[in-house]
Formats: sequence, structure tokens, C-alpha cells
Amino acid sequence: MFVDTHCHLSFPEFDQDRHEVIKRLREAEVSVLIDPGVDVATSRKSIELANEVDFIYANVGLHPHEANQPVDESVFAELATLADSPKVVAIGEIGLDYHYPDYNRSAQHDAFREMLRLAQSLDMPVVIHCRDAWEDMLHILAEESHSGMRGVMHCFSGDVDIANACIRMGFKLSIPGTVTYKRSLLPDVIRSVALDDLLTETDAPYLAPVPWRGKRNEPAWVRLVTESIARIREISLEEAAEAIAGNTTELFRLPAS
Ligand SMILES: [Zn+2]
Ligand SMILES: [Zn+2]
Repeated sequence: MFVDTHCHLSFPEFDQDRHEVIKRLREAEVSVLIDPGVDVATSRKSIELANEVDFIYANVGLHPHEANQPVDESVFAELATLADSPKVVAIGEIGLDYHYPDYNRSAQHDAFREMLRLAQSLDMPVVIHCRDAWEDMLHILAEESHSGMRGVMHCFSGDVDIANACIRMGFKLSIPGTVTYKRSLLPDVIRSVALDDLLTETDAPYLAPVPWRGKRNEPAWVRLVTESIARIREISLEEAAEAIAGNTTELFRLPAS
């Protein structure tokens, strides 16, 4: 019923108790979890986990933090090979991140463009990480979108105008646990777009929702994100959960559950 479209469950933060976390996911009625890679090694781990658990799917990606210096050709070749694996449903996470002062714009742009081309050649959606880089993001997407692009702005952090620009380009917005934080701009965004444009995620182990802010995040808490969306849009939890699960199945072309 609930879907976590972005959770790093294969990261070492979950090595001690991953089986317990998966058990709690089933108990919490989370029916889909998508685990994105941030480089070759983590993409491989995400595929291994997806191969073990039926409702977990993998993404193959190269995070902008991993592309802050020129990336070797062989990395892209390896990622392309991994993307061929049956449980890989998207290319991600990829994108731009100008948050930290050491960012290298041109290296990030090159890697991002390369990965966008890979996604389009495989007819796969993209999972995009964008932090403090919206202008360049929208510009590059417009340039690289040839046959029309589809995907999701993961952990969406923009305002209503940026939300609408992303939706016009074929993207959905994934709402994280930060929607529960006091100064979040997300309630305005959630009210102003269509329910069809929304997905839910935790980005665990990061960004735990209130009342667990600061703790290791847990994918089962995606229910709290769905509850927030239902409350903000003044609809029932069932209606919100069902619509978002449908949006997820459609975007990532998951087998109907
Ligand atoms: Zn991210
Ligand atoms: Zn992430």
C-alpha cells in the first residue's frame, strides 16, 4: 500500500539489522521500495538486495558528489552493464549538487549529461538529485531531452514555480520526510500540483521525519509522509496511498501488484 521510492537500504547504516528493517516494512504495509545507487559499488549492492527481496527494486546511478571530478569512461561502461540487470527500474540517483563549496560544476554537468543519455538509450526513467542548482538543472534537462524525458525529482526541495517547471518537463516530485519539518515549503507545493504528480520517499538513512528528526531514518516511516500528503490535500490516507502507489507503478513500469 505505501511506497518508498528512494531508500538507501543497501548502505552500511543498515548492515546490522537489515532483515529487521525489511520485516518492519512488511508489517507497515510498504509494498514497494526502490534502492538507488550513487556509484558503481553501491549500484551493485542495490541490485544484490533487489535480487533477494521481491518488493525491492534497484536503480543504477552516479551521484553528483561522486562526479565532482572528471569521471573515467570505464565507470560509465560499468554502470551501463549494471543497468541491464532485470530488477533495475531507473537510472539514478544522478543530478547536480552545488550545496558544498568544493563543487565542480563542469565535472557534474558532464557526468549528469552522460547518465541522462544512458537512460534515454535504455528508455528508462531517471531519478534526479538536485540541490541548490535548479537553474542549471532545468537548462540541461531541456537540452538533453530528445524523445521526451520521464523521471522523478527525488527529495524535492523547490518552490511551486520550480515544481511546475519540472512537471511540464515530464517529472514527478517525490516528497520526503522533510514535509513534517516546520519551515518546509512542501505543503504549498503539495496543495498546488495534481496528486498524479506526487511520489513518496524516505531517503533513509537520512532525513528522518518528525518526531524522529536527527535519528537514523527508517523506510517504514514513509507512512508518515503519506499521512502528511493526505492531511495537506484533505483526502483520506487510503486515497493518497493508492494514488501514489499507482503513480509509482506507472513511472517505474513495475509489475502490477
Ligand atoms: Zn539525493
Ligand atoms: Zn539518495
